[in-house]
Amino acid sequence: MAFTLPSLPYAKNALAPYISEQTLDFHHGKHHQTYVTNLNNLVQGTENESKGLEELINLSHAKADMAGIFNNAAQVWNHAFFWHCMKPNGGGQPTGAIAEKINTAFGSYEKFAAEFKQAALTQFGSGWAWLVQEGDTLKIIKTPNADLPMVHNQTALLTCDVWEHAYYLDYQNRRADFVQTFLDHLLNWDFVNQNLV
Ligand code: MN
Repeated sequence: MAFTLPSLPYAKNALAPYISEQTLDFHHGKHHQTYVTNLNNLVQGTENESKGLEELINLSHAKADMAGIFNNAAQVWNHAFFWHCMKPNGGGQPTGAIAEKINTAFGSYEKFAAEFKQAALTQFGSGWAWLVQEGDTLKIIKTPNADLPMVHNQTALLTCDVWEHAYYLDYQNRRADFVQTFLDHLLNWDFVNQNLV
């Protein structure tokens, strides 16, 4: 069964002025769509045609001859996850069960935010900053290109896309401003709580 582009969980203008409708038009409608289209073209008519997305990601990880499938499948998953990490009127202090876990792991929300921002800013080139759960512990990690927590035995709780296509139309080269805005105005703590295992 062919993969399809999942709908955004909010209107395309719902994150403005922090992320513009134009950015979501390109990022969701063009970039995310292209990963879906590429993945379908790579598996169509092959033995991998009927496999699920996570199965394809795990199967193709670290296999040189399956790099195209891994990169496109992982980017399909990463973007579908990323859209839910944001909501209108989001950001700021955590709520729910994650609040105490963040205090335990990082000492305070402020220390969490500083470490998350540092990971996002020091990811050289394209990639992602993540809050992950590994066993009972929370960690902040960064991954290059399409790489993602599930192939490192970690559960993704939160991510911020730091590929330039995520912010260039609105922030140009100012990745720090984009990440600070993500933390202050967009982050969806309800979704983070749902991802705890
Ligand atoms: Mn992206």
